[in-house]
Amino acid sequence: MPNKRSKRKKVQHFPCPFCEMRLWRLGSPKYHFFYQNAAEIRRKLKISAKKANFLAAQNSAYVDPSSWIEEFFCNEHGTMWLLLSRQSDENILYRLARREDWEQTNKTIDPTKPNPSVSEFTYRMSRKVYYQKQAQS
Ligand SMILES: [Zn+2]
Repeated sequence: MPNKRSKRKKVQHFPCPFCEMRLWRLGSPKYHFFYQNAAEIRRKLKISAKKANFLAAQNSAYVDPSSWIEEFFCNEHGTMWLLLSRQSDENILYRLARREDWEQTNKTIDPTKPNPSVSEFTYRMSRKVYYQKQAQS
């Protein structure tokens, strides 16, 4: 008799990379990877140049539905951002997100670099405020 339990929807749990305890999803936004040109699409998705060119022609930026950064919570280690990537067999691999991973998403939160989507004017203004504060102190 077949095991009925195997019909249950498979929910994958993610152990903490530090202590192996179960991590909890926080329902944070998923920051998907995106690729800006055919060469990048081809390299990241490991597909043919023809397919990559096709995808690049369809979208100004290709959003990868199977790679994203999401926030998790460990009772022991607090919140952490993980890079998740869904494999072709539906299993999800993950590791701690690195700075270069954030650079691959369309919502850069790396505070050490000016956001390229912020206009040059806004960037100059923010620097000006910074220098004024320096001068006052
Ligand atoms: Zn932990």
